[in-house]
Amino acid sequence: MRVLVTGGLGYIGSHTCVELARDGHRLLIIDNLGNAKPSVLERIRELAPGAAIEFVRADVRDAAALESAFAGAGIEAVMHFAGLKSVSESMANPALYRDNNLGGTAILLKAMARHGVERIVFSSSATVYGVPEQLPYTESHRLQPANPYGQSKLQVERLLAAQAALRAGFRYAALRYFNPIGAHPSGRMGEDPRGVPENLLPYLTQVALGRLPRLRIYGADYATPDGTGVRDYLHVMDLAAGHLAALAYLCDRDRSICANLGAGRGYSVLEVLGAFERATGRKLAYDIAPRRPGDIAAYHADASLAARELGWKARYGIEDMCRDAWRWQAQNPAGYPD
Ligand code: NAD
Ligand code: UDP
Repeated sequence: MRVLVTGGLGYIGSHTCVELARDGHRLLIIDNLGNAKPSVLERIRELAPGAAIEFVRADVRDAAALESAFAGAGIEAVMHFAGLKSVSESMANPALYRDNNLGGTAILLKAMARHGVERIVFSSSATVYGVPEQLPYTESHRLQPANPYGQSKLQVERLLAAQAALRAGFRYAALRYFNPIGAHPSGRMGEDPRGVPENLLPYLTQVALGRLPRLRIYGADYATPDGTGVRDYLHVMDLAAGHLAALAYLCDRDRSICANLGAGRGYSVLEVLGAFERATGRKLAYDIAPRRPGDIAAYHADASLAARELGWKARYGIEDMCRDAWRWQAQNPAGYPD
């Protein structure tokens, strides 16, 4: 298919682009480079040699730019990764998250409607659930996000549902990601955050590199088996595969779906640290620091809907995720070239 990928130079989008292109899809990537470097495009092309991959630098909120990207391009489906993703930034600047994540999607949906494009896979998040009432989270769990980032994801899900109610042929997949980590097994592609990483895995890889002195574990007094926070980590390559499964679902089953994409089990911070040390053969220093404001003690996915409906399951284990994250970071200590 001819697929328009927004945010396709970002962490998850780039890995998914490689898998889409290797599966024979022809891609038109749109990214404003707000959180990505242009050299990611070369790596996507390197990992999917010979594939048809075009790139347009544009913001999804720019209706005129979208119009010219869609015009005559024969787009058949959209994968929508473009968005902002920092919980802390969203608390400091909620309007920005509403504007980019919700506003950007509204403009994208208008362009799709004008050009008769009826299939979209959207990057949603487990943050749409909020404080767990029961675990694992199933898709029918109450939706009460605790921060503007999660709220913007839920608002987009609602916008997609409204669009499906309005337009007979419109179908969407809202994929609620848990904690994607890891990198392309080649070591050529991975997560490349700006500045000091907020998330656990990129922080760990930078400690292993010697760029940061020690891990700070945010809280060891939670009601979890070892006191540290528990999350459902999944390999970014599994997540990419989930997008291909969702696209196939939209085409073959001709229905919309909201589905969790997680491994279906949780690991504590100390367990991730242990897995990282085993996978890399390095010992890392750490301190116990106060809890991070807004953190939830523990959660993981019930991933059975994705297994049943999409035929998708996470395959990689936690040590694979750590090994691949480390291979990427060790081979690219400064991330992607400028
Ligand atoms: P990322 O920042 O690496 O990728 C997002 C890409 O979108 C970047 O390349 C950025 O330049 C681009 N972008 C942002 N706003 C844009 C706009 N208005 N117009 C055009 N391009 C724009 O993030 P990621 O980790 O790859 O996440 C991808 C999507 O998945 C995001 O929507 C994010 O909210 C969602 N998500 C991520 C996680 C995670 O842990 N990484 C978890 C759940 C959901
Ligand atoms: N975490 C930590 N130190 C860090 C970064 C994260 O202890 O430097 C913990 C955090 O408190 C949480 C887990 O690691 O329990 C995963 O955090 P991350 O920011 O990667 O993901 P999210 O909070 O979005 O689930």
